[in-house]
Amino acid sequence: MSFVDDIAALLDAGGDEARVHEGARTAMARLVSRDDWLPDEMAKPHPQYYQQYLLYADPQDRFSVVSFVWGPGQKTPVHDHTVWGVIGMLRGAERCAPFRREGERLVPAGDEVLLQPGHVEMVSPRIGDIHRVSNAFDDRVSISIHCYGANIGKVKRHVFDPQTGAAREFVSGYANA
Ligand code: FE
Repeated sequence: MSFVDDIAALLDAGGDEARVHEGARTAMARLVSRDDWLPDEMAKPHPQYYQQYLLYADPQDRFSVVSFVWGPGQKTPVHDHTVWGVIGMLRGAERCAPFRREGERLVPAGDEVLLQPGHVEMVSPRIGDIHRVSNAFDDRVSISIHCYGANIGKVKRHVFDPQTGAAREFVSGYANA
């Protein structure tokens, strides 16, 4: 996967998070410009839960690449990432609703974004790290490819109650352990 080489090279070159993040966005745009490479076993939906398949983990856990497979109507809770991330839409479409902390509460941080194939979205504590993501379709599967600046399945992060802002710690793991 030349995408993996691109990200490793960005990290090897060093520099600040913003530079790595921007480079990852460019590489992700290339990766999702075609939909002819994702193995079928990494594209299988689950009837109840959205799936997260680990495609690649850096040996030093500096980054990971994951396919998110959304069954019809499936969505995440409101959650954060704690590290930089780029989200490339591969197939179908998803809606991304950004939130931010305001004291104890969570408030919308701008308009919901509709991601179409080829689009790339960015998250990080630096630019906005809290959102809820949902399949834009209630009658078909959507798939996005995510790259994060850590082995995201092992990272302690948070889901939030959007009404109260209450945070609960979680570790996502992967569907393919
Ligand atoms: Fe997310």
